Amino acid sequence: MKLNKKIVVALDGFSSCGKSTFAKRIADTLEYVFIDSGAMYRAVSLFSIQNKMVTESKIDQTGLIQMLPKIKIHFQRNENGLVSTYLNGKDVEKEIRGVAVSQLVSEISKIKEVRLYLVQMQQELGKEKGIVMDGRDIGTVVFPNAEIKIFMTASVDVRTKRRYDELIAKGFEVSIDEIRKNIEERDNNDLNRKESPLKQAADAVVLDNGSMTIDEQMNWFKDLLKSRKLLEE
Ligand code: C5P
Repeated sequence: MKLNKKIVVALDGFSSCGKSTFAKRIADTLEYVFIDSGAMYRAVSLFSIQNKMVTESKIDQTGLIQMLPKIKIHFQRNENGLVSTYLNGKDVEKEIRGVAVSQLVSEISKIKEVRLYLVQMQQELGKEKGIVMDGRDIGTVVFPNAEIKIFMTASVDVRTKRRYDELIAKGFEVSIDEIRKNIEERDNNDLNRKESPLKQAADAVVLDNGSMTIDEQMNWFKDLLKSRKLLEE
């Protein structure tokens, strides 16, 4: 698939909707860079656990804000050819997907200074365009001028099953009830937080992929590009 100009694709939506899977496929097809912005919030969460800034459910916000400039995040292919998230030079892809980080990340992502720090990093990564980024505020805050904005959704049941299968496949021991609770909590936090809540951008197209395969989603995307006259003739 070839486009007639370099664009930004912003993909927002609820937790575990398959945003990253879809975004990765889009990026591969267009030969664009894919950035999982959720991984960046997860990496900051892991950093605060590693640096003992979290006790019980309390976060040392002042300490974390001071340490922000020391948090360096980048994405790179690992030896298996898969893109991993690196925190200060270390591959943390597996750790950031675990339950401890998943339970903390909504709280971390509420902190205004954390958001400012990461949004700046995300905008820098997309300044040359040719990027597909997924998250919660990509079409509203990070790239309000993105040429394509997609808002993804699927039922809680579908999302719970997907997350459960994904974690089991990765070797985590989890229960389905624990996953459902975490997804519901994160939905609630993402929708109701003060800073950049999850919100559909006015010019975003909604995609409910609950009963769609990834190939069907890609066909839908191609039709969208066609309707926007972005496909090269
Ligand atoms: O996408 P993922 O579910 O991995 O994101 C983890 C968490 O990071 C979300 O639950 C949300 O609280 C936060 N997040 C955010 N803004 C983004 C991406 C993720 O607040 N752009």
